[in-house]
Amino acid sequence: MDRAQYLTAATSWTHHTPFAEQPRTRVPCPYEGYEQYPGWQIIIMPTTVCNAGCKHCYLRNSSSLDPDQLMEMIKNFQSQGYNVYLNGSEPLANPDYLKAFKLADQKIAMTNGEIIYENPPYIYQIADAGIKTLGISYHFDMHKEWSKIPLRLAETALSIAQNAGINARVMTTITKPFIEKIPQYCSWCVERGYPEIRFTNFMSQGRAQTLDRQLILDADDRKRYYEIISEQREKYPIDVLRISSCGSFGACGTPNFSCMAMRDFVVLTPDLKVYPCFFQIEKGMECGVYENGHIFTKIGYTQPQNDCSALRLYNTF
Ligand code: SF4
Repeated sequence: MDRAQYLTAATSWTHHTPFAEQPRTRVPCPYEGYEQYPGWQIIIMPTTVCNAGCKHCYLRNSSSLDPDQLMEMIKNFQSQGYNVYLNGSEPLANPDYLKAFKLADQKIAMTNGEIIYENPPYIYQIADAGIKTLGISYHFDMHKEWSKIPLRLAETALSIAQNAGINARVMTTITKPFIEKIPQYCSWCVERGYPEIRFTNFMSQGRAQTLDRQLILDADDRKRYYEIISEQREKYPIDVLRISSCGSFGACGTPNFSCMAMRDFVVLTPDLKVYPCFFQIEKGMECGVYENGHIFTKIGYTQPQNDCSALRLYNTF
């Protein structure tokens, strides 16, 4: 990505590496109207259990995969030519999942930070599993309101990661009242030497559906959001602060938007349901099935690539 692209970058997924096309053994589909999933990445959620219980979380229920079952699934998907990525909830709370991150050759993991705060040497096990960047939830002005994890705990976890040589990525959800504070959030990271901040749009989905809808960014707010992050990207060189943005802010006229849900990835939850993206994990939104170690998706089921479907579904007024 060149500098001009970076200044306006808005994408649904920044963690993927270019997918090398690999030969895929074709398997017969047992269901009419379905086909073997043609994309290249499968995001597995090892668990939806979390100790933070954030009020704005997109998840509603809790289940987990057995770590050995997870390892077998990864090996199986890789043998079919898929790239596997692990995400969602708090998988690092179970050290038995670390070997799965290593097997998936994954360089990034997310956490609310409590496991690192409670057991700082654990950061070296995380590093040994190959993790180079650790995204830690830190919601600034909304954090106390939403999360059981105290801000000072998350802050300590960020500095433990940074001191261990892991990139600390500040993961922040943006709501309508605090858009104009984004420059302060960025300078907060720079002052502390945290090299990355990633913004996610507040999505009125899952548990967040019970929260005040006044928190939702409207179309003008989202345009303003893109203006602000472009200014901040101008202000801070990328090697000082890398500012990334979840696709959940939608296209809003930005030239570099691309939703990769369905086209490039699907999400497999611990209860073995298949969804187009994290924000669409809801009964009735399944886009495929998991059967005998294979994922089959509905023929003709697509998501618009030029905007965020989840935004249209959950954040419209
Ligand atoms: S639907 Fe929205 S949140 Fe989901 S992957 Fe696409 S852009 Fe991202």
